[in-house]
Amino acid sequence: CQSDYQPPVDLLAGKVILVTGASAGIGRAAAMAYARHGATVVLLGRSLSRLETVYDAIEAAKAPQPAIFPLNLESATAQDFGVVAAKLEQAFGRLDGLLHNASMLGERKSVAASDLEVWARVMQVNFTASLGLTQALLPLLEASTNASVVFTSSSVGRRGRAEWGAYSTSKFATEGLMQILADEYRDLTLRFNSINPGGTRTAMRRAAYPQEDPQRVPTPESIMPTYLWLMGRDSRGTTGEAFDAQPPRQ
Ligand code: NDP
Repeated sequence: CQSDYQPPVDLLAGKVILVTGASAGIGRAAAMAYARHGATVVLLGRSLSRLETVYDAIEAAKAPQPAIFPLNLESATAQDFGVVAAKLEQAFGRLDGLLHNASMLGERKSVAASDLEVWARVMQVNFTASLGLTQALLPLLEASTNASVVFTSSSVGRRGRAEWGAYSTSKFATEGLMQILADEYRDLTLRFNSINPGGTRTAMRRAAYPQEDPQRVPTPESIMPTYLWLMGRDSRGTTGEAFDAQPPRQ
């Protein structure tokens, strides 16, 4: 099982990997893990100062120097995604990996009580931004050899649940996009998969389950084996699949 994967230290040496929502939670842990395994990571997120903190932590770990790209995915347009692609083209000429991780929770309300504008914002950040960024970056991903694109799903992206409306539908849409892209690239020039991290100790989890004792929830660092496996050479040939980063709870 991928959650037991033991990555070689040089797994991602020489790779260029972009992580969205790299400033906090699971995205920060993934950026650190990819950098520690040799990748040059491009840290994309909303807050420059929080991204700089992650940048400093990667430098302190003596990992390859990262790059920073502040961008608010809520307001980002196709033009902004084009700028990301142009800057990466100029700096690296290719992209070997892309982790779509940034998301917002939105409102925990019934469909009947949901605000349509809030629902649309959640779809924009969690789904449409991933679509736009992927579209813009496809040529750079194709310039790599067998690049890996990883989408972040959720258990409610695979089975609907009351009062998870916008977030849940954004994750269903994400799973659909992953499958469509995998089918469009079934020649395996690029691969597309999704990860459901499972309950993980972050600010989003605290917002969704305020009554829960965070100490009982696994840390972002503990779920990194699946994130590393899907980015690296040991998952070559795998595409169109939905993974869980944690084994099912007993
Ligand atoms: P956090 O809320 O801790 O972190 C979210 C990250 O996304 C932050 O870096 C945040 O940036 C960034 N982000 C949010 N909105 C925007 C925006 N408009 N523009 C740019 N960046 C933005 O979440 P988690 O680490 O918990 O979640 C990571 C992923 O895992 C998400 O896709 C989530 O849906 C999924 N997930 C998490 C679970 C959990 O239990 N934690 C369970 C199932 C799925 P900033 O620092 O600026 O806010």
